[in-house]
Amino acid sequence: MLNKVLENVSTIAIGGHIRPDGDCVGSCVGLGQYIRENYSDKTVDIYLKDIPESFHFLNGTETILESVDNEEKIYDLFISLDCGDTDRLEYSKPLFVKAKHTFCVDHHISNIGFAEVNHIVPEASSTSELVYGLLDEEKISKNVAEALYLGIVHDTGVFQYSCAGPETFRVAAKLLEKGIDAPKIIEETFYAKSYAQNLVMGRALMESILFLNGTGIASFIRKDVMEFYGVGPKDLEGIVSQLRVTEGVEVAVFMYELRQNEFKVSLRSKEKVDVSRIAQYFGGGGHKKAAGFTMTGTPFDVLNNLSKQIEEQMEKLEKTQEQ
Ligand code: AMP
Ligand code: MN
Ligand code: MN
Repeated sequence: MLNKVLENVSTIAIGGHIRPDGDCVGSCVGLGQYIRENYSDKTVDIYLKDIPESFHFLNGTETILESVDNEEKIYDLFISLDCGDTDRLEYSKPLFVKAKHTFCVDHHISNIGFAEVNHIVPEASSTSELVYGLLDEEKISKNVAEALYLGIVHDTGVFQYSCAGPETFRVAAKLLEKGIDAPKIIEETFYAKSYAQNLVMGRALMESILFLNGTGIASFIRKDVMEFYGVGPKDLEGIVSQLRVTEGVEVAVFMYELRQNEFKVSLRSKEKVDVSRIAQYFGGGGHKKAAGFTMTGTPFDVLNNLSKQIEEQMEKLEKTQEQ
């Protein structure tokens, strides 16, 4: 599939979603480096903004372009990775729109297939796993393997979530055979937290509230608090997962303030509730068990609206179980 998509193409742009996470960075850098290493006749530009410091060890991250020099530039091909809709490409969207050809690889259930060629598999653990499937196993270098492994680790919560299926483990095994230092990648990019990150997480957990009889848990962090601790959005990764493991909880909600009374909302569910449907209802998207959206209002408005949606789904589930 990759050979076909790259046919007659010489300039390529790769972009992922706003506030890129591990899977987004891993898939973009992994595919970008693979093309650079194996197709010397093609040039690749990778567009991602503000990636976490701990991902900088990945080969290729030093070439990432954090701004678009010329919005009129026309690439032969734009590859969108791990991005559910074109708006989430954010600053690289104009390049996607102008590109001669477009290709989308993604696993968001909310992705409608916005490119010319689409490879969307909602059941896949991660976009990095899907990218692996496009590559020629023998041509994957250790550097590319590190990037894809990092992506899989992050989207599966270190192979824990139900999205990690047999194929995920097979792919991970193949990547390990490339000689990567897997424990180091897991420790240093997934588990490691700065002191400030731990303080903010502690605060978010301490201030969390239960709702819907303890089946929901929610917490939020305001902008002034983030400024006080000197943390940004990428430092808040992991808080919603920690809320989710609370006993008795089905749905966890974590919000942080983007601008005054505008919140980025993260949703996680254990098994029953499809949070992607809730996120889509509020104009966002994601997966069954991990989704997000942006909303204006006070945190309590957001929670009120959300809890109605969660309750509706739970009631429907109860009814179908009774039948
Ligand atoms: P997050 O809570 O930001 O970690 O996101 C969980 C999942 O939902 C990720 O796969 C995101 O790409 C996706 N997601 C988050 N926010 C949005 C949004 N506004 N629109 C579409 N998908 C989103
Ligand atoms: Mn992502
Ligand atoms: Mn992903």
